[in-house]
Amino acid sequence: MSPNSPHDIALTFPDGNVRHYPVGVTPAEVAKSIAPSLAKAAISAQVNGAHWDLQWPLEADAQIALNTMKDDAAALELIRHDLAHVMARAVQELWPDVKVTIGPVRDMGWFYDFDRAEPFTPEDLGAIEAKMKQIINAREPVRTEVWDRARAIAHYEAANEPYKVELIARIPGDQPIRMYWHGGWQDLCRGPHLQHTGQLPGDAFKLMSVAGAYWLGDSSRPMLQRIYGIAFRNREDLKAHLTMLEEAAKRDHRKLGKEMDLFHMQEEAPGQIFWHANGWTIYTQLQDYMRRQQRRGGYVEVNTPQVVNRRLWEASGHWENYRENMFIVEVDEEGAKEKVVNALKPMNCPCHVQIFNHGIKSYRDLPLRMAEFGSCARYEPSGALHGIMRVRGFTQDDAHIFATEEQIESEAKKFIEFLAMVYADLGFEQWRIKLSTRPEKRIGTEESWDFAEGALANAVTAAGYAYEIFEGEGAFYGPKLEFVLTDAIGRDWQCGTFQVDPNLPERLDASYVGADGARHRPIMLHRACLGSFERFIGILIENFSGKLPLWLAPQQVVVASIVSEADAYVHEVVAALTAAGLRAEADIRNEKINYKVREHSLAKVPVILALGAREVAERSVSVRRLGDNRTDSQSLDTLVAALATEATPPDLR
Ligand SMILES: [Zn+2]
Ligand SMILES: [Zn+2]
Repeated sequence: MSPNSPHDIALTFPDGNVRHYPVGVTPAEVAKSIAPSLAKAAISAQVNGAHWDLQWPLEADAQIALNTMKDDAAALELIRHDLAHVMARAVQELWPDVKVTIGPVRDMGWFYDFDRAEPFTPEDLGAIEAKMKQIINAREPVRTEVWDRARAIAHYEAANEPYKVELIARIPGDQPIRMYWHGGWQDLCRGPHLQHTGQLPGDAFKLMSVAGAYWLGDSSRPMLQRIYGIAFRNREDLKAHLTMLEEAAKRDHRKLGKEMDLFHMQEEAPGQIFWHANGWTIYTQLQDYMRRQQRRGGYVEVNTPQVVNRRLWEASGHWENYRENMFIVEVDEEGAKEKVVNALKPMNCPCHVQIFNHGIKSYRDLPLRMAEFGSCARYEPSGALHGIMRVRGFTQDDAHIFATEEQIESEAKKFIEFLAMVYADLGFEQWRIKLSTRPEKRIGTEESWDFAEGALANAVTAAGYAYEIFEGEGAFYGPKLEFVLTDAIGRDWQCGTFQVDPNLPERLDASYVGADGARHRPIMLHRACLGSFERFIGILIENFSGKLPLWLAPQQVVVASIVSEADAYVHEVVAALTAAGLRAEADIRNEKINYKVREHSLAKVPVILALGAREVAERSVSVRRLGDNRTDSQSLDTLVAALATEATPPDLR
């Protein structure tokens, strides 16, 4: 190893090895100096943690790692990002007068917004895909240069690309203007990119759809056409994702909600749910279950106001930091000189502190676990709303535990065990824990952060689970645990949360009398298990494809007549089921039994009983379970007893 000369920089590799290179060396050259095979396989580098193009020069000592397609995150980002460019190039090769704008990576792929007079058709998407494959097969090099601002603007003015001119004006003065070429086609981009288009997997992407999008999201600016694409590292991953999407569409809770007559939404109340009797049955069953579990878990249940004066929101900090999400309610209060300004509560926390503050609390009262099925309202832009999963009006299974610092760990462990039991009861065996740690902008001492993060980590371990650390993702006042469950088709849903908060008790002056007779601040632990009932019910519906476990099914049994002579027996069977606590209905319409079965199956009724002359004579029932074409004959008494057992909520069995 040569000694460090002023023209050398020292690069430290992941294995701790240090190598010296001339100033200005590129990661591509570094890769080549290690092995020709690495030079070929490399796609980008991590330089001091930043994602770095192989062509960007290194000017100072650094930590460096070279990425290949084996590095998941880097590979997927580059594949999706390079495909955005390749798609834009394909579009301009097919229709040279189309103007290009921006094309970021998102979710499982990317989008790119184009200004074109005629709408893109599905056939156009096919043509673009074919052109993209040609570009990939040509293995055209990717090249980059830094330009000065004036040259870049002049270039795009000459090329009649007004959106790019506007984009350059928006790049901060201290940032370089980077140009990228995929073959001969140029785009403005911050990079990084692959070495050449041949590194892209030509069989692992698909253009999905076209939608309208305003330039810069501003409705006074031109309407552009946004083409969405998805991409993966290989064909198998793409196929698996497409299958998952198909499966997700089949079980979409908005579609099933209609078929099962669960709820509807309408323009007069965007983002709020009109629960129909069927849907509300699921809701109340779930709520009853949670109420019983919480009582067993040592929680007290409270209820707090919906409309609360802004003074409390000012004191809690919500007025300053959260107002754009709050519904403001102004009232002409009699005798008041000014309008009284209230807000619908977006969270329950400040109200719970009001209850805690009522009367003197002692250390013997802690931990105090205060639960509320708290109905909250939050403004969400209409574009963000999604069925009952993302709404403006919802009810959380919320609770706040007022505790001492020493109690954080045992309360966290207790909550993890509580949540594990609830998720298992609701059919979710697979879930994982994220631990979000101190962010850059924070309050509190390093010691208090060390303590709280340590308490959460210990609790997870003591409960017998593992956690993934999300560095810097905690709230400004404390660390948190997040619980992510995986549904039947492999999708992740973050539902549960457990958050350490010393801040709100401070702001709202909560205190308790310690064993030493002095006043102390409690810690507040915000926690929810389901998140919101609305969203969780959406997840349940999609997870089970509407085929809910019997105890949650809105209509558990339909008793259908095959012939009208069985009508009286139908009513008798319904009465017997109802007496056993089951939700049963009669269907004695003058319709064919197959028609009735089809209709109730579509509505996802778990059990259909068909009664004809034979059943009347034998006092039996012909049982048909949802998703099963066979029928099974049983005596009425046996069936009622079996269904009553099966319909018992899991915590009462
Ligand atoms: Zn780019
Ligand atoms: Zn809270």
